[in-house]
Amino acid sequence: MSTSSTMRYWRQYRSIPIVYRIGAAFVLGSLFGLAVGDPATRLQPLGDLFVRLLSMLIIPIVVFTLVMGARRLSPSSLGKIGGQVVMLYAITSAFAVFIGLAVGNLLNPGTGLELTDAESQEAEAPDIVEVFLGIVPENPIAAMSEGNVLPTIFFAIVFGLALAMLQEELDEGDVRRGVETIFDIMEAGAEAMFKIVWGVMEYGVIGVFALMAAVFGQAGVDAIVPFAMLIFAVALAVTIHIAVIHLGGIIALLVGESPRGFLIGGKEALITALSIRSSSGTLPVTMSNAENNLQIDESVYSFSLPLGATINMDGTAMYQGVVAIFAANIAGVSLTITEQLTVVAIAVLASVGAAGVPGTGLIMLTLVLTQLGLPLEIVGFVAGVDPILDRMRTMTNISGDLAVTTLVAKWNHAVDFTGGTWVGNEAPGAAPTDD
Ligand code: ASP
Repeated sequence: MSTSSTMRYWRQYRSIPIVYRIGAAFVLGSLFGLAVGDPATRLQPLGDLFVRLLSMLIIPIVVFTLVMGARRLSPSSLGKIGGQVVMLYAITSAFAVFIGLAVGNLLNPGTGLELTDAESQEAEAPDIVEVFLGIVPENPIAAMSEGNVLPTIFFAIVFGLALAMLQEELDEGDVRRGVETIFDIMEAGAEAMFKIVWGVMEYGVIGVFALMAAVFGQAGVDAIVPFAMLIFAVALAVTIHIAVIHLGGIIALLVGESPRGFLIGGKEALITALSIRSSSGTLPVTMSNAENNLQIDESVYSFSLPLGATINMDGTAMYQGVVAIFAANIAGVSLTITEQLTVVAIAVLASVGAAGVPGTGLIMLTLVLTQLGLPLEIVGFVAGVDPILDRMRTMTNISGDLAVTTLVAKWNHAVDFTGGTWVGNEAPGAAPTDD
């Protein structure tokens, strides 16, 4: 083959979005493993390389993204409305992880699939007091070098908030310039890390092929069921969360309006999220739905929706809960209550750090797995079905942003329920609103 036709094939290959190439590697690797059987497990080191590349990025990503995120949470933007928005974002995300864990415990996805070289340790149940004390690092540098995720997250947030406060207090001077430089460096660092992530994902095509070949080479057709169960579990958890928390709890109960009116009002944003798998990419549509259909005032949504697209990710947080159970089952361990509570804390914080672009939830999964001492190989397994899971979680993220925005708008008399898609969709027995 001539060099020019090789280049042409290479360019054609690269023009296919990476998630589809990884999806194809997942399917082909599985088929290869099924066809070849046990010898396919020799490909395992190629999969291990993918896992090592991912683990290399964990600590830098946590530090860069969370410190940078604090810049957006500058103390003055956290006035009354900001406080309400952030509080509700945190509470709904925590509910989402609880639902994810509950569905995971109920359906137990992942049972029946064993790792080729199960390297996970049977975790002894840590004491709850120790877990909470352990969030605060005695030495942040040691926490980072040992790859302790939770204390690293804690330090990054505290450091970021302190920088944001300094930025606000000081008008000029060396310190102020220094703070801005640090923020700029963190932003550049985060961008660089995501560049590396995409490079790693390019290799992931080979890595996922190898991982799946090894799994199916050893487990045979029995390995299909756990993946189908994982997709079903995420779909069920998403449905429960949107129906119970967003529509039932927030819109019908607290706002006192019709869930139908809300869904019709946000349908373009929800469908866009489902198609493009990006909260940030969907943002213009989400804002236009809030303004035109849900009749929410700009004073609320102009702050809450851009913030929500980056820090509020119910679907992403919930997915971490389901996959934590999936991972524990594959590794043949069961998670204690304390460990599951740790998942709630990390999943909420990881979803804050995750950017609203396709696939970041998968990268953040490395944090949860590392904290639980579960094998990172699972990221490679989940990567193959991630395009499907990502759609569901991004739609849930957007539904959460819109639901919280509607409630805060109601609390602040910044929504008109007599117009837009609310009209003709009264909730049965809904309390009259004073707007
Ligand atoms: N794709 C998601 C979003 O943009 C983030 C994730 O991967 O979970 O909201």
